[in-house]
Amino acid sequence: MNVLLTGGAGYVGSHAAWTMHRAGHDVWAYDNLCEGHRQAVPEGRLVVGDLMDRAKLEAALREHQIEAVMHFAAFANVGISVTNPAEYYQNNIVGTLSLLDAMRTANVNRIVFSSTCATYGTPEQVPITESEKQAPINPYGFTKLAIEHALADYAHAYDLGYAALRYFNASGASTESPIGEDHDPETHLIPLVLQVALGQRDHIKIFGNDYPTPDGTCIRDYIHVDDLATAHVAALEKLAPGSQLKLNLGTGHGASVMQVVEACRQVTGHPIPIEIVGRREGDPAELVADATQANQTLNWQPKCTDIEAVVATAWQWHQKNPTGYEKE
Ligand code: UDP
Repeated sequence: MNVLLTGGAGYVGSHAAWTMHRAGHDVWAYDNLCEGHRQAVPEGRLVVGDLMDRAKLEAALREHQIEAVMHFAAFANVGISVTNPAEYYQNNIVGTLSLLDAMRTANVNRIVFSSTCATYGTPEQVPITESEKQAPINPYGFTKLAIEHALADYAHAYDLGYAALRYFNASGASTESPIGEDHDPETHLIPLVLQVALGQRDHIKIFGNDYPTPDGTCIRDYIHVDDLATAHVAALEKLAPGSQLKLNLGTGHGASVMQVVEACRQVTGHPIPIEIVGRREGDPAELVADATQANQTLNWQPKCTDIEAVVATAWQWHQKNPTGYEKE
């Protein structure tokens, strides 16, 4: 299949691109490289362009005879979305509308969209099912929810087939392709802890140990990025015009911040000093997926579900690439 991946040079997008590339699909990453990395894309498969450049998007869809889109391109830092919502609403929502317009003009009617568990806000029930109320608590979550609504309306009116895949905590790195996680600035727990193991940081700050969880630290569902990638491929294969899928992607198991740090100690052999600091604004105590629907609908099961195994894949990449991708 000929597939365009917006944000295909980013963390999850590049893992999906390589997974599809290895399976023999004709993939094209469309990325403005403001956060993505040229080196993360399979050779010769990058179109440098912005979501707001509708003409360029349309040209890429036509030139490469694209049959479906995977839409990863977005700003995804919760904290910055609070201090700079304008950038988030503009890039995420307006950018997506531009993409949907270009797809309509070029007669591309299938899309797999990166949504997020942040659309649930603070859930009433954990594990979280898809019927949990979607009530985001930050601008990032609102932008993703707004896009889910737009997709539903476009599906109804224009026969668009879409999947909204609500990720929990994407983590780890590919074991088959030369790609991993490199954000600037880095804010995610696992890469930050691994920077301590690499001697680049003295210690890791733990944001709160007074949550109502067994060890007092927040619990998250760390889903391996390659498992996310295979779910995207399965979702794409399911999509027909006008069909809708809304699915949680997680392992169904939670790990606390302390358990993640301990897993990093085991994998790296480094003592990883910690400092307990105050809570980070907007962090719910526990986010764990009930992924039964994705398991059944997509016939999909995550393969790498043990937190130490997930960390080991990340550690492999960080050891080989201690400062991330080479800067251009
Ligand atoms: N966290 C932490 N210290 C850090 C970064 C993250 O204690 O330096 C915690 C954070 O509060 C959350 C969990 O680790 O409970 C995962 O955070 P991350 O930013 O990786 O992902 P998020 O859950 O925000 O998507």
